[in-house]
Amino acid sequence: MGTAKAPRPRAANYRGVLRNYVGGEWVASTAAETQQVINPATAEALADVPLGNAQDVDVAVSAAQEAFWSWRQTPPQQRVQHLYQLKHLMEQNRDRIARTITEEHGKALDDARGSVQRAIENVEVACGIPSLMMGYGLEDGAARGIDEEVIRQPLGVFAAICPFNFPAMVPFWFLPYAVACGNCFIVKPSEQVPLTQQIVFELIAEAGFPPGVVNLVNGARAVVDALLDHPGIKGVSFVGSTPVARYVYRRAAENGKRVQAQGGAKNVLVLMPDAILDKTIPNVMGSAFGSAGQRCLAGSLAVTVGDSAGKAASAIADAARALRVGNGLEPSVDVGPVISEQAQERILAAIQRGIDEGARLLVDGRGAAENRTGYFVGPTVFDQVRPEMTIAQQEIFGPVLGIIAVDTLEQALQIIERLPYGNAASIFTQEGRVAREFRYRAPVGNVGINIGVAAPMAYFPFGGWKESFFGTLHGQGRDAIDFFTERKVVITRWF
Ligand code: NAD
Repeated sequence: MGTAKAPRPRAANYRGVLRNYVGGEWVASTAAETQQVINPATAEALADVPLGNAQDVDVAVSAAQEAFWSWRQTPPQQRVQHLYQLKHLMEQNRDRIARTITEEHGKALDDARGSVQRAIENVEVACGIPSLMMGYGLEDGAARGIDEEVIRQPLGVFAAICPFNFPAMVPFWFLPYAVACGNCFIVKPSEQVPLTQQIVFELIAEAGFPPGVVNLVNGARAVVDALLDHPGIKGVSFVGSTPVARYVYRRAAENGKRVQAQGGAKNVLVLMPDAILDKTIPNVMGSAFGSAGQRCLAGSLAVTVGDSAGKAASAIADAARALRVGNGLEPSVDVGPVISEQAQERILAAIQRGIDEGARLLVDGRGAAENRTGYFVGPTVFDQVRPEMTIAQQEIFGPVLGIIAVDTLEQALQIIERLPYGNAASIFTQEGRVAREFRYRAPVGNVGINIGVAAPMAYFPFGGWKESFFGTLHGQGRDAIDFFTERKVVITRWF
């Protein structure tokens, strides 16, 4: 958890103790315990978030169950009218949402705006639910005079358990699809960044959803466990670190729920000798250091192939040194703080481990922490990294890029194949044959070809392979429709 070690002074715009949104009302949590929500750029408290409990979850599930029958009977075309309204409100409030993301998460304002846009795009795609949710059938499908068709039905109440790194976007990989399909929904934001969802739920309230259709419960582990165990919850979407994803997958499945659990990552960027460096390097910078490296699609290993090695490493180092570190609200800033004091310590320890293991520190970002109150780590680049080193194996989730030099594409692919994770991998080349081999072989859910952050648009599925994902159906697009509906086969004969 990301709470500061000692209580922090309150910011001038301190917002008090946050509330849950349940059954169309803002309600206080029944939990006594709270945690400070810290602005990582200033180390000031922005609010206190209640660390909710099973009772909070129970109240929300009851409200959602109560809303379900009438919501599922509301024609899809009518259900999406609320989503159209929400899209409109989110567009009107885009800057306000983005500023709150930057305040509580730290990322640069442009990054925050981009992530709000991604959230809105998921609402737009879910507005197509009348077509997306349609079934299919066949006259005389069983025998002459016996027709057979498939219809899709919503299941009931679903929940999303969210990570800190995309406070607006991640809930929207699931929420719009679930409710458009006729389910009711509960969002559990990360306790490190609960403020953005407060604004989103103000807009949800304004969008006119019937009470109980969409609910917000704040908290940490106790709320997660209660959601995983509650018999009224039909399915859970989780996004976060791999150990928690595995735990959520196991426990939800044991309780007979649908579950999709997205985990951590170690994403590789392969630079072939023919990569066009002046176009490739900005992509590498955006991937490794955007959002201070706290993206599940962040490139954290650059593998240089053949004679590109020396040239690429020095171009990467020069570009990393040129990035400006600071408060993400300032327009000139490229790299904001990391999420918390603990995260900062963990990342600094990973850098020390890289040095101890014999990698060469080309760009040292540790100085960014000096003379600053916030939790800063500057862009950090290692070269002479070997695949077996800890910094090449473990997710660091911070602005640290390791460079590994190899001779062949085959060796680069082996590095990717041997990693436990499988979220994303990118290749930079001008040769179609090489790119084709890469896309064919790389065991990951998202492949970039001359793209640094291979983030799928809302109408494509989003999820990784291997230990980056537990489940079958991914988030977004048609996968989301399959996850949030059950299919029923109807066989009809008229005597
Ligand atoms: P996290 O796993 O610490 O927390 C995620 C959620 O789980 C939070 O809501 C938290 O309250 C809850 N949680 C934490 N520990 C728990 C426990 N022991 N039992 C029950 N619930 C628990 O993740 P984070 O630090 O918030 O987010 C960063 C991680 O998320 C990184 O590993 C990143 O790669 C991953 N991530 C993955 C994707 C993806 O699409 N695969 C997207 C975004 C982030």
